[in-house]
Amino acid sequence: MLLEFNEQTVADEARSLEARYGNLEPLDVIELAIDHLFNEEIAVVSSFGAESSVLLHMIAQIDRATPVLFLETGKHFPATLRYRDQLVSELGLTDVHDIHPLKHSLKDEDPFGALSMTNKDRCCYIRKVEPMARAVAPYRAWMTGRKQFQASTRSSLAVFESVGSRVRINPLAHWTSADLKAYMSAHELPPHPLVAEGYRSIGCMPCTSPVKDGDDDRAGRWAGSDKTECGIHLTGLTDQLSNISLTDSNL
Ligand code: SF4
Repeated sequence: MLLEFNEQTVADEARSLEARYGNLEPLDVIELAIDHLFNEEIAVVSSFGAESSVLLHMIAQIDRATPVLFLETGKHFPATLRYRDQLVSELGLTDVHDIHPLKHSLKDEDPFGALSMTNKDRCCYIRKVEPMARAVAPYRAWMTGRKQFQASTRSSLAVFESVGSRVRINPLAHWTSADLKAYMSAHELPPHPLVAEGYRSIGCMPCTSPVKDGDDDRAGRWAGSDKTECGIHLTGLTDQLSNISLTDSNL
């Protein structure tokens, strides 16, 4: 009952923040969130993918010590891991955390590392959703690099939204692909090396392919299946966060 009350309060808070600040420029949203709204209780989740450098560059301008959470699924392209190291070094980020799946989950459910071929939802759950919930549980809010233009499923994405009893902030929600390119160019940010090979949204190696001109950026994620999201942005995360909030031993 207390948890439900808290979730309703946070949902109201997110709606109020969206009404007041949802049209600010991304850098202003980030400064507001880090310096005024959530202080030391905020993190950023980054995939170190095709456009991740923009949000991370903005965050570095406000506070390089902002915790950066990277879901190290064990299935990334080697190029992504090298790109992560390059960006961390060039932007001077000082508090980057690799978040790994639970060892016993891998041992019990994916001992051969092939679960993505037989059950992608379960693979995403043990490699992304549960680790994500564990990673953000200590914070009151976290930021993501999601944008409305990326896919039809994100077309009404808000800057401020609630996830259970926490606030999720998408500072770049209204930015276009052209905005991102212009920002990367103006600040000479290095591109992810796979962008040149046609990858416009980059996740785990077994589930990511290049896309054609005119396709959604995310069309290359889980191509050939009905899956469009890994679950870290969907209700499964809310459920998992509720479980973790109630079970300290999971923290
Ligand atoms: S994106 Fe693919 S490999 Fe990565 S966690 Fe999900 S199913 Fe597994």
